[in-house]
Amino acid sequence: MSPTLTLVQGDITQESVDAIVNAANSSLLGGGGVDGAIHRRGGPEILADCRRLRAGHYGKGLATGQAVATTAGRLDARWVIHTVGPRYARDEDRAELLASCYRQSLRVADELGARTVAFPAVSAGIYGWPMEDAARIAVETVRNTETAVEEVRFVLFDDRAYAAFAARIA
Ligand code: ADP
Repeated sequence: MSPTLTLVQGDITQESVDAIVNAANSSLLGGGGVDGAIHRRGGPEILADCRRLRAGHYGKGLATGQAVATTAGRLDARWVIHTVGPRYARDEDRAELLASCYRQSLRVADELGARTVAFPAVSAGIYGWPMEDAARIAVETVRNTETAVEEVRFVLFDDRAYAAFAARIA
């Protein structure tokens, strides 16, 4: 099955879903953008879990295109799934790595038993990916991924991001 796609404009940390996806960086130790918002609102438990991951299997951090789950701390969600998007590069096609973020996050969601998952526009902020292309890759990849997740909710921060995703889903 492929999940139902829904769109919301707003702050992903406010969403009541089983799992929220974080556009993390490979250190897993926090950053700006959506990452900063998730850690601020979710509280220190998320960072504590991230530190445990770094002390264990993820000693070198999380590779680009991969995903891993932690607690969601004080957020409504049960889990945060951290994924590391690629930085946009004009001279190199990294679309497959961005698609991998969505596929791997859904794989982790399936392992957790999550049925509703919220995604931000991974890589389309600090990492510089053009929004229309980020929306195309996100929607195409989720549509083509076999998963038990029933709803994928794209949570877009501003009008431009919302419009780009709406144009792809329509
Ligand atoms: P990246 O480093 O992967 O580009 P960013 O967090 O900088 O990640 O940006 C990814 C997208 O998330 C951008 O479109 C940004 O505007 C958006 N964003 C930032 N904060 C939030 C938030 N609280 N909820 C939803 N989206 C957010």
